[in-house]
Amino acid sequence: MRLLRSTDLALRILMRLSVSEGATPTTREVAADMDVPYTHAAKVVAELQHQGLVDARRGRGGGLALTDKGRTASVGAVVRSFEGDGDVVDCEGGGTAPCPLSPACRLRGALRRAQEAFFASLDPLTIGDMVTAPTGPLLLEIGRAPS
Ligand code: SF4
Repeated sequence: MRLLRSTDLALRILMRLSVSEGATPTTREVAADMDVPYTHAAKVVAELQHQGLVDARRGRGGGLALTDKGRTASVGAVVRSFEGDGDVVDCEGGGTAPCPLSPACRLRGALRRAQEAFFASLDPLTIGDMVTAPTGPLLLEIGRAPS
């Protein structure tokens, strides 16, 4: 199963902010740290704000910070929210003809269960768990490097 780029970036941004040590980097700085286009980062930050995981303050001294909810967010919950609950296979054909097996397909159910097992395996993990060594120290190093 391949994650959307925005899902992975959401997790990376949350991880980056969780090691900010009180600093409030801007979206532009976070985008540079993560080596992604600013516009892509800005869209993901807006969604993280919408979900109450990130606080964004404008103006001088402003920037991004994790909220309490963001600090304790489960990786599984973030992945579910960005991926949505669509099937991993487009059985309905997405505008073209549906798969002929779709009215009675055992594979479809098996794939759904596998997808749920994938999400469930990420549910017990928090963003904090993802930034223990060696990842956290590397994120700190990246965050301190001049962008
Ligand atoms: S074989 Fe089953 S899972 Fe695959 S596209 Fe057809 S209905 Fe969906």
